Amino acid sequence: STPRTSVLIIGAGVSGLSAAKVLAENGIGDLLILEASDRIGGRIRKEKFGDVSVELGAGWIAGVGGKESNPVWEIAAKLGLRTCLSDYSNARYNIYDRSGKIFPSGIAADSYKKAVDSAIQKLKGVVESNSVEDATNRTDFSLTPKTPIELAIDFILHDFEMAEVEPISTYVDFGEREFLVADERGYEYLLYKMAEEFLFTSEGKILDNRLKLNKVVRGLQHSRNGVTVKTEDGCVYEADYVILSASIGVLQSDLISFRPPLPRWKTEAIEKCDVMVYTKIFLKFPYKFWPCGPGKEFFIYAHERRGYYTFWQHMENAYPGSNILVVTLTNEESKRVESQSDEETLKEAMVVLRDMFGAEIPDATDILVPRWWNNRFQRCSYSNYPMISNNQVINDIKAPVGRIFFTGEHTSERFNGYVHGGHLAGIDTGKAVLEEITKDGRQNQNFLLEP
Ligand code: FAD
Repeated sequence: STPRTSVLIIGAGVSGLSAAKVLAENGIGDLLILEASDRIGGRIRKEKFGDVSVELGAGWIAGVGGKESNPVWEIAAKLGLRTCLSDYSNARYNIYDRSGKIFPSGIAADSYKKAVDSAIQKLKGVVESNSVEDATNRTDFSLTPKTPIELAIDFILHDFEMAEVEPISTYVDFGEREFLVADERGYEYLLYKMAEEFLFTSEGKILDNRLKLNKVVRGLQHSRNGVTVKTEDGCVYEADYVILSASIGVLQSDLISFRPPLPRWKTEAIEKCDVMVYTKIFLKFPYKFWPCGPGKEFFIYAHERRGYYTFWQHMENAYPGSNILVVTLTNEESKRVESQSDEETLKEAMVVLRDMFGAEIPDATDILVPRWWNNRFQRCSYSNYPMISNNQVINDIKAPVGRIFFTGEHTSERFNGYVHGGHLAGIDTGKAVLEEITKDGRQNQNFLLEP
């Protein structure tokens, strides 16, 4: 017969595991976690590159040092995770043009101010006119980024963080500091430790049969009485409740089908959320040829194509002697690079680096290109709510449909896009399901008491 559990959790990333932990700690022992890939962690993932661990997904604990304490920072501190402070503020003074000259600080500061002013004006326009298009048309044309340096700064402001443009809850609540995780055990060590608190493990391995890896959920059939879950390998599971933690990119794809179909308000909300693709490309060299020392960790390449190998970081602070550079691409550039061979990408990156540092620099000996967009269990790096979205969109994305509960970073109203967003969303959803189970219990009891 089909196995039945009280709560079945789809996805073993930070949100799914956080939800499971809440349930387990509150006496819900018959859980089942189905994970599509062959590991836990989801978008928190390390990989060996050269002699060190690099983070293909989440790399920073963002929001530290403020009035409230970031829960992920607390867990990391307790475990003694090795981190280093990232100071981006100098990046704007390390902007290279295509001939390898660094822009004088006066020009950099002016371009920076212009980009911030234009972004603020545009945001104000969006709020007033309720339309991105109108706001773009209304923004003072002289402020529109046009030159390579303006385009580079515009890219940094919009595709990374807009803290200077609008308040971001993460920095307002938890503080403005960001720490890069630089630990051989990886950011994912946090999740193994979290899993260990409620799943059976031995010698660092999870051996609990309530966690099943390589189980791709393809169908959810739901009714007033429960949910039937079907996986790609033909298994069927029954559950009283389902918690679905798949990313917004997966929800927008056709990986999981629902019977009956999701209601209109739900599918419309899912479509309204933009997905962000964010790609960190790692390059290893035989030796260093870039400047190190204070204020040099981050540098910018100004090219006439917006977002073309713009944002660079050296890993000497994180891993001295590793001789690794990281360049970050987003959205269309990410998708372009994902679809070409790594050799082509390496060639492109070398042209850019030779522009900045001269023809005599050595070729990279190794390259690592994560492919979050083409991963059918991700289809994005994180959610990005449009500037004019109201809370209704996120509330609808989060709202349960019958016995199916939705969780994940994209359901976090204040912290979407972050690890702590996923963690807090998971806790929230775990509690919401717990409340339903308690209600059910009370109803059953009343039923039994009736004569
Ligand atoms: P996920 O981690 O995606 O977990 C969902 C799980 O569901 C996955 O394991 C997936 O395999 C599984 N799944 C999907 N479909 C199915 C299915 N059909 N059946 C079964 N299982 C399924 N955050 C920060 O705080 N700081 C950063 O510096 C940062 N940088 C980032 C950089 C990159 C490149 C990326 C990709 C993300 C970054 N983030 C960062 C965001 C952060 O990683 C995420 O917000 C967080 O990890 C999401 O957790 P989650 O549980 O919501 O989703």
